[in-house]
Amino acid sequence: MIVYKTPEEIEIMREAAQIVSRTLGLIAEHIEVGVTPLALDKIAEDYIRSQDAIPGFLGLYDFPNTLCISVNAQVVHGIPDDRPLESGDIISVDCGSIYKGYYGDHAYTFEVGEVAQEIKDLLRVTRECLDLGITETKVGNRIGDIGYAIQQHAEKHGYGVVRDLVGHGLGTTMHEEPQVPNYGSRGRGKKIQNGLTIAIEPMINLGTERVVQMDDQWTIVTADGLVSAHYEHDVAVVNGKPEVLSTFKYVEEALSKKL
Ligand code: MG
Ligand code: MG
Repeated sequence: MIVYKTPEEIEIMREAAQIVSRTLGLIAEHIEVGVTPLALDKIAEDYIRSQDAIPGFLGLYDFPNTLCISVNAQVVHGIPDDRPLESGDIISVDCGSIYKGYYGDHAYTFEVGEVAQEIKDLLRVTRECLDLGITETKVGNRIGDIGYAIQQHAEKHGYGVVRDLVGHGLGTTMHEEPQVPNYGSRGRGKKIQNGLTIAIEPMINLGTERVVQMDDQWTIVTADGLVSAHYEHDVAVVNGKPEVLSTFKYVEEALSKKL
């Protein structure tokens, strides 16, 4: 069952999402060659707690950390470790918060040092996929329209669209109905209605769409070892149109200062 949210609930969810947005902005300031994922995780946990919120992933399904940090061929659900980041790496940082009982859940893939042009292109197209999916999130459309837009754009560039993991409804729990696949058919799936709140999160691979789970029972990696990108926004449908509750503004401000 889809739980549609009231305008008051959407305002709380906006704050939950913005706490994550500011956290990602802080992470953006600290990402550089030599930094460890575990150090970033600590920064995120401390910041979220300072905002009267709690880390949304820590302990969820027994996940051990505040951030999921997925490096290079890792797609999602990477566990932060103490391996220093190297120039040429990309890292997907996925972060959750709980604020007044509601979840924020949003992600950005960062470049570390000098990244190959082929990988920069993957990052750009994956962000475009996210924007295209958001545009489709409106009354009159169905959930399948979101995935269709994402899939078409990614596959046009020859990339693999991960099938085994999907976006999702978001609210007082991290994963609610409906599932929001990054692939699909026009006009298929549940109708989009006002009050729908979902996390849209294309996971796009440079090579094959196929993924496997590592022995840690968490980390998802590409089957061919090529890199993967992941961006995620929280979106509410208000007055028939998509309203993005999260923002990359803080990340972009931090990255522009580093140039
Ligand atoms: Mg996420
Ligand atoms: Mg999510």
